[in-house]
Amino acid sequence: MTELGEGVHRIEAEVGGRPLYLFLFLGERRLLIDAGCASTVDEFIIPALTEVGLGAADLDLLLVTHSDLDHQGGTHRLRQANPKLWVACGLLDVPLVSDPSRLMADRYHAYLDDHGIKPAEEAAAWMRKESGEAEAVDLGLTGGESIGLAPTWNLRVLHVPGHSAGHLALFDERSRALFSGDALQGSVYLGLDGTPKLCPTYTHIDEYLATAALIESLAPSELHGCHWPAQRGTGVFSFIAESRDYVRHLDELVRANLDQPLTLGDLVARVNDRLDAPWPDELKPDLAFSIHGHAEWLVASGLAVRERGTDGRIVYAMAR
Ligand SMILES: [Zn+2]
Repeated sequence: MTELGEGVHRIEAEVGGRPLYLFLFLGERRLLIDAGCASTVDEFIIPALTEVGLGAADLDLLLVTHSDLDHQGGTHRLRQANPKLWVACGLLDVPLVSDPSRLMADRYHAYLDDHGIKPAEEAAAWMRKESGEAEAVDLGLTGGESIGLAPTWNLRVLHVPGHSAGHLALFDERSRALFSGDALQGSVYLGLDGTPKLCPTYTHIDEYLATAALIESLAPSELHGCHWPAQRGTGVFSFIAESRDYVRHLDELVRANLDQPLTLGDLVARVNDRLDAPWPDELKPDLAFSIHGHAEWLVASGLAVRERGTDGRIVYAMAR
């Protein structure tokens, strides 16, 4: 665990060989950003709390940044350990954060019916296990709220969609540090060994770019994502630029490849082949998140058309 500032700690956990950072705020009220995976609670969160002389029962509020297994999976286990814990997340993410079966169906199998894309069996089983058990959300937030941790210490809630519809970030008004979850993703998720492990997985282009603009306009002194190294000073703006550049690059690749009608699966394969460092096959379901977003953005803009093929699969092509 690293102390980032007075009363602010970064819990350094792990998911699938990648860093997973959770953040602990110890004011007169005690807040935890993200519950991690189901297994993260006993493996990392409880030991981190013990390190500062606390237990799960000392937490007042859990804020889940967004609906993903590595951010919400430990919620049930945490509330088991602390029945008085308040659980908050973005209002639009409440259905998925409170119900892991909805998370599996609506997020990890979102491209199954129309596109025939889904994670491999073994991966899906791991995802279901680490998504944890169902747990009700007490507070659905929409951004603009202020959380008072102490008389002179407030965290401002920001709505930062793009990776999920209800994604939240917290802006510490005392230090001007932003805790951004997975709201901005740079160009890659690196592993603990420094090698590329996962592609960016934003789903909605306009929302993601608006989030980049919002974060830039705040000019945070520090940017703390959940899977990326902390950025400080000009590093904050470099990371925002890197996130935007990746979107632009993917947009170009998607347009160039839709010169012929393609299913989402074929589009993902072709775009992947043209990346500087193509991903292995098992990462293709993860690439589908952003590439589906780009294809749908082109359709919504009238630049591409979407049709359903005879086999029921959706086919995209640039409009003529
Ligand atoms: Zn994540």
